[in-house]
Amino acid sequence: MPALSERTKDFTDSVIRRMTRVSLQYNAVNLSQGFPDFDPPKEILDRLAQVAGEDFHQYSITWGAQNFREALAEKQSRLMGRKIDPNGEIVVTCGSTEAMMAAVMTVTNPGDKVVVFSPFYENYGADTVLSGSQPIYVPLYPPEFNFNPDELEAAFRQKPKALILCNPSNPSGKVFTLEELKIIAELAEKYDTFVITDEVYEHIVYEPNKHIYFSSLPGMWERTISCSSLSKTYSITGWRLGYIIAPSYIIDTAKKVHDFLTVGAAAPLQEAAVTGLKFGDDYYRQLRDTYTGKRDLFLKGLDDLKIPHTIPQGAYYILLDISEFGYESDLEFCEVLARDVGVGAVPGSSFFRENVNHLIRLHFAKKDEILNEALNRLEGFRTKIAYRK
Ligand code: GLN
Repeated sequence: MPALSERTKDFTDSVIRRMTRVSLQYNAVNLSQGFPDFDPPKEILDRLAQVAGEDFHQYSITWGAQNFREALAEKQSRLMGRKIDPNGEIVVTCGSTEAMMAAVMTVTNPGDKVVVFSPFYENYGADTVLSGSQPIYVPLYPPEFNFNPDELEAAFRQKPKALILCNPSNPSGKVFTLEELKIIAELAEKYDTFVITDEVYEHIVYEPNKHIYFSSLPGMWERTISCSSLSKTYSITGWRLGYIIAPSYIIDTAKKVHDFLTVGAAAPLQEAAVTGLKFGDDYYRQLRDTYTGKRDLFLKGLDDLKIPHTIPQGAYYILLDISEFGYESDLEFCEVLARDVGVGAVPGSSFFRENVNHLIRLHFAKKDEILNEALNRLEGFRTKIAYRK
């Protein structure tokens, strides 16, 4: 048989999603792939039930149903501080996964370079490979996950076409400060580079941190492709509703890419989700408070176990330092953790460009009783995991 494509040789399946399968195999509390185990808001579900009996079973407009784009434009205009045109400046996609892929394909040619901060959400690696572009990784240094502006400028000197900015950041939990964003903005301007954002955790930011939309920085609207989704905000990761917001000259091309990648996001789900897009500010405050409670509960439990860990400023991930166990492979450690302790985690190496094997990622988007169950299982885990040194 002929050989399969070269481009698919350069990446594996997603380790994040593989760890969900490992968790299921060992009946572990799955704190690996980040998605909530609690219900979406009732109003959205009630609307979904009605929609089944209404006329939303065929394709919607390829770049998103009109009322969905209008509701989204209104919400995001409020947040992003500019009037977003629902007709010219939005493409609705199948999750932010498609939004990112479409964004990268919209701005890059094969061989172009794309700056990616490391650690990074693993999709960006595959996005660059699939689009034929090449990542230039710039390290974020723990514990604050700060970048070195000189290292970032060195990456820009290689004339990248775009930079991918995940903010709030998965897996580090970093929320970029205004000063940091300004440095990126200056470099994007100086080297004439696009910035593709992944802002799916825009509403999961812990006080006193604040989310700043990169596109809202002076002069940045024109060169920013903002990607986000409804998955995390309304606890509907399985609905696959995402979007790109950008100036119309970019959106015109993104619409074409999206049209031929997927035609469109599920019409009945768009219709039901409009209910959520129309929620008032109270909903987002409550969401933040709920996650703040979960973060505090989980961090306290981990502190009691005396495991060194990161403290997220946003999103819902924590990196734990497992150096004491002496494993050379964090993937093997995660298998052992799922099998012998009953907790699913993602090996940190799937997020780092650098050779990092001493971190694992857990998420806390779970019901409190499940988080407590995970903490119970972790109690005494030092006696359950075979040390390797
Ligand atoms: N963003 C989630 C994570 O990092 C998962 C997203 C996905 O699997 N599509 O775990």
